[in-house]
Amino acid sequence: MPLVSTRSIILQAFPYGDTSKILRLLTREHGVRSVIAKGAQRPKSRFGGVLESFTEGEAQFFAREGRDLHTLGGFDLLKSRQSIGRNLVAFTGASLIAELALRFGTDEPQPSIFQTVADSLDEIATADAHLLQEIVISDVWVLVSLFGFRPEMDSCVGCGEVLPPAATARFDVEGGGVACVRCRPVGRALDPASRRELRQMVEGRASRHPFTSPSLQRALVRAFLITHLARDYTLRSLEMFLQQLG
Ligand SMILES: [Zn+2]
Repeated sequence: MPLVSTRSIILQAFPYGDTSKILRLLTREHGVRSVIAKGAQRPKSRFGGVLESFTEGEAQFFAREGRDLHTLGGFDLLKSRQSIGRNLVAFTGASLIAELALRFGTDEPQPSIFQTVADSLDEIATADAHLLQEIVISDVWVLVSLFGFRPEMDSCVGCGEVLPPAATARFDVEGGGVACVRCRPVGRALDPASRRELRQMVEGRASRHPFTSPSLQRALVRAFLITHLARDYTLRSLEMFLQQLG
């Protein structure tokens, strides 16, 4: 296959041997790809030390059919997003976004996922620290919806009855959405304001305001991810991110 040139975000970068690096790339045209950057750890590498997580650039690699690991030929830096590394909430949150993209990305083009991750990392890199929690959790819900796990927010997942916006509901994690208090008589209440916030997040139109109940939103996203997306493995960055929030 010919040399491919594609806009790429480095989701993960780790050393390989004494001199090289292996990168997991989210590319705009070719989905998630793994490449080896030969010599990238050398002080005078032609990659110039830019191959770090969350960096975006134009990557050139030789995409060989049937191979899982391609050879990186060049990487033209567009955005380094170095500020993400200076704040632990930003860093662990960006790591969670990257881990989700890595786990649920395929080697097919997924332009909406690429754009969501790119926009999310841009916002995390420049956000006020006090809104990082809202930004990351909101973008996690956008990705969850893009991956096909969008929770039901309007009708009870038990009986199908439409829940009015002002009604207090509960959230049935296993059932994948809101539930009325008859179908789900016990459990934590989902107050109308928090339900509105959650709906806006899964629809990708959340405003950047502090959550009405941060602990409730953290518990919901954690339970939903573990139940629907990470049943058989641990999303390591999820716990790291939540620990930073206290
Ligand atoms: Zn019901």
